[in-house]
Amino acid sequence: MSKMMWAAQLVEPRQPLQVSRVPVPRPGPGELLLKLETSGICHTDLHVADGQAFPSGAPEPLTLGHEGIGRVVERGEGTTVPLGTRLGAPWLHDSCEHCRSCLTGWESYCPTQRAHGYTVNGSFAEYVIVQERYAATIPEGLESLPAAPLMCAGVTAYGGVMKADLAPGKLAVIIGCGGLGQYGIQIAKLTGATVVAVDTNPLKLSEARTLGADECFLAENAVEGVKALGGADAVLNFAPSNRVWPMVTGMVNNFATIVSVAMVAEPVPLVLEWLTFNGCRITGTSVGTRQQMHDFLALARRSGIGIDVEPVALQDVNHAMQRLARGDVKGRFVIDFSRSP
Ligand SMILES: [Zn+2]
Ligand SMILES: [Zn+2]
Repeated sequence: MSKMMWAAQLVEPRQPLQVSRVPVPRPGPGELLLKLETSGICHTDLHVADGQAFPSGAPEPLTLGHEGIGRVVERGEGTTVPLGTRLGAPWLHDSCEHCRSCLTGWESYCPTQRAHGYTVNGSFAEYVIVQERYAATIPEGLESLPAAPLMCAGVTAYGGVMKADLAPGKLAVIIGCGGLGQYGIQIAKLTGATVVAVDTNPLKLSEARTLGADECFLAENAVEGVKALGGADAVLNFAPSNRVWPMVTGMVNNFATIVSVAMVAEPVPLVLEWLTFNGCRITGTSVGTRQQMHDFLALARRSGIGIDVEPVALQDVNHAMQRLARGDVKGRFVIDFSRSP
């Protein structure tokens, strides 16, 4: 009989995940088996669980999770990483390596990429399979609990800041100061730009100030406040709402960069003439490439980038996801597998 593990699986959309004993998978060629120490819980897990983003061809039931940190305990044919190496299981499980996105170094945009907790089983389990060539190497000095959210939330914020072309003297506005925005503030500060935080919640703004934001505004005062500071050269939207759009268009300078980070499915009104006259650039970002992950993890270790994490047991994952859905979390929930029975 095969070895068994605890896993939290989506059996039916809009139903609680089923936490049960399932067989430990075996690594195939090029694959490694990680024994997980931690796994972050991401908003995308909520979207998958409630059926908003259910992929075709996913395993059924599907183990969610894409922010895993663990150690190599078994190696598939052709792999070379030593047993015991600590690796991350990020969103990206692998990509096709021959499409336009992959060939230009943007594998995170690959249309046939496979993702943990989405198209392959993820990290809400004691063990997960990763591709050796796509697993993230976790630098010594980064502890597994705070490192887990770096696998998606952190690297996504990093990718967004990289697209914003920040520099000393520029003014960057971060809209939405939840977990991702909190990473965004810290990374943007490291570019030397002046960083302005915007949120609807005054508590989030006081956290933003602690994390280094130079100025903080409630959403209702943000356009006026940013304009008084000279206007925004870049706006990064981390808020999952299309209601931010009038604020964004109201605060940008000519030639500003607008980066869409949060997944907002609702449309916004865009007057093309507005772009004609101001030369603004509108772009987006989606998690990160392997190179971005490598660069970001080194930066996180050197600079101490981090947010509050609240550890939970795998058995409490449904409760944590309910709290996440209503915004009842300071930074990020992280499953700590040492708390499993
Ligand atoms: Zn995520
Ligand atoms: Zn591809």
